[in-house]
Amino acid sequence: MEVFVFDLDFTIWNAGDTFCSETSPPYFWNDEQLFDQQGRWIRLYPDSVGILKRLKKAGKILAVASRTNEPEWAKQLLQLFDIEKYFDIMEIYPGSKVTHLKNIQEKVGCPFDQIVFFDDEERNIQEVSLTGVKCVYVKNGLSFNYTSLKKGHYKKGLKNIKQKIGYFQTNNIKSERPGKSFLRF
Ligand SMILES: [Mg+2]
Repeated sequence: MEVFVFDLDFTIWNAGDTFCSETSPPYFWNDEQLFDQQGRWIRLYPDSVGILKRLKKAGKILAVASRTNEPEWAKQLLQLFDIEKYFDIMEIYPGSKVTHLKNIQEKVGCPFDQIVFFDDEERNIQEVSLTGVKCVYVKNGLSFNYTSLKKGHYKKGLKNIKQKIGYFQTNNIKSERPGKSFLRF
């Protein structure tokens, strides 16, 4: 796989247990933790930076696909967390994520099946999976514990949409070969 695309809310970060569009900027740091004006603690998932770093080091193309209604706030958070630098492409605007993925595919110029897309919302996974993009359904944020997609999830003709969704397995890849499995996508 050459291109790795990430959702933001509840995939890369937890914006205080809500969507970043529901937060109250301006954001501010307090004791190395980021908060909004309502006191929401906005934080990256623990493995997010490590995953982005590792993929970047491996020469992969990284992209953001967010359908937030507040693109400027999302961009602010990307800057505040200093992770904007990892992304080659940022598609941040409301609407179906199929549009985001198509735009990314056009910009990169690779086949859809060379793209992996991580998202925590089933509706996004369902829509995008129909393009041929490999979709990974994220639960509880990005994690190195995710390993390669189960075989068969992407076979054409699967009737049950759930079977098209790649579920992460929580194998012991951390102790085995840290991070390697993640790149097997
Ligand atoms: Mg999300």
